[in-house]
Amino acid sequence: MSIETVLPPAPTIEATTDVEGVVAALRAGFESGLTRDLAWREQQLAALERMMVENETAIAGALKADLGKSLAEACTAEIDFVRKEAMHARKQLRRWSRPQRVPTPIAIQPGKSFVEATPHGVVLIMGAWNYPFQLVLAPLVGAIAAGNCAVLKPSELAPRSSALLKDLAPRYLDTRAFVVVEGDAAVSTALLDQPFNLIFYTGGEHVGRVVMAAAAKRLTPVVLELGGKNPCIVDETADLAVAARRIVWGRFLNAGQVCVAPDHVYVAASVEARLLEELKRAVLAMFGRDPKLSPDYGRIVNQRHAERLQALLADGRAVTGGQVDIAARYIAPTILTGVAPDASVMEAEIFGPILPVLPYETLDAPLAAINARSPALALYAFTRDAVVADRIIASTRSGSVTVNDTVVFVANPNLPFGGVGASGMGAYHGRYSFDAFSHKRAVLKRGFALDASIRYPPYSKAKLALLRRMA
Ligand code: NAD
Repeated sequence: MSIETVLPPAPTIEATTDVEGVVAALRAGFESGLTRDLAWREQQLAALERMMVENETAIAGALKADLGKSLAEACTAEIDFVRKEAMHARKQLRRWSRPQRVPTPIAIQPGKSFVEATPHGVVLIMGAWNYPFQLVLAPLVGAIAAGNCAVLKPSELAPRSSALLKDLAPRYLDTRAFVVVEGDAAVSTALLDQPFNLIFYTGGEHVGRVVMAAAAKRLTPVVLELGGKNPCIVDETADLAVAARRIVWGRFLNAGQVCVAPDHVYVAASVEARLLEELKRAVLAMFGRDPKLSPDYGRIVNQRHAERLQALLADGRAVTGGQVDIAARYIAPTILTGVAPDASVMEAEIFGPILPVLPYETLDAPLAAINARSPALALYAFTRDAVVADRIIASTRSGSVTVNDTVVFVANPNLPFGGVGASGMGAYHGRYSFDAFSHKRAVLKRGFALDASIRYPPYSKAKLALLRRMA
């Protein structure tokens, strides 16, 4: 039975919210000083953790309906991910928010200097549909920890998840500080017109530009978590069986709708045939002979995207996969060979379960191809040769680089998560989320003693010489 036949139709989201009123109310909440209290922040983070734990079944159900997301993926990449981020921030936030004492130069002694993390104020968090809970709530962890109020705008393309978030948030979080606003691009546009103190956007590059242009009108700072075409290199020294499993897992997770998924593979020509065999074997082992029946294989978010992906299948020969059922939003996990470097599947981010594999003779070729594009969000290299790994790292740019694995770097809260160039700006996760939502305020405290006249005009030659020595 397809997912569509067992679930009620997706709710329509009505754009009736008074966004101006919502933002004004949150501004009043922020100005009341409510969010300055560290105990309040800890309590909000604990409530968020509880929200994830107590509503696991409902969250997993919404994700199944929106994306055919498996229970394993719902638990690890959404529910547990948010819960762990919130718990980590709750435990660390007193340490993170402690003003940091820094040295004071002799010229401005006596004095004490500090860097103080202060909240931006009222922030807007806009998420994409592929991880509808994680992409709104993981940034929210940073917003809470750093003492901000926030409007949460989940994606309208994952409507059950959006509706559930709207229902759950006020039951756990302080409504004076956090509000979920549902809606489509018209609502997003209205929100972008409001006087936020920071906009945190996750989604495609095109809307990223819209967000940044809107923010520019008010000089609002932005964090942009965008996409990209993440390359993966497999050289002749790699363990091909392990590489294939890790690539297949990373590419077909969430039916390929993952911003850090390996988008295409450059493989040393001498091992191409063996890698293709291992990739096929890994797909079979993970999803069976008919992946449509696998409870662990997802669906495309909507028919429009399924049709977009279907068109890309013509760009190569499917060594495995290739089956499509548009009505069921199903595209089989597909490995493509014989893909021309200028084929349309090699133009934009695929963002679906299709993996082109392109052979190379020398490493210079994939490095040149990678550097001809704007930097990706993630870059992957499979090799046993440390010199090759270091060469790939040193001669490319990307938001992240992983040697001998895919995607899992996201689970390390000690690593920043974010893009560079067209894949985004700013980073979050763990401590980086706190920093993303904080303004680092310079604080200098002095007394009235030792008001040396040397700093004040009129300046003589001798005074100036002394001043310059002290500076
Ligand atoms: P989307 O369509 O859900 O849009 C994201 C947000 O933008 C939504 O809240 C939506 O309401 C809003 N929006 C859409 N059109 C708008 C418009 N015209 N004006 C103002 N706001 C508008 O998501 P998407 O863009 O399809 O997301 C997929 C992309 O996101 C992929 O490129 C993917 O790589 C990227 N992504 C990046 C990350 C990351 O962390 N870097 C994570 C997930 C997805």
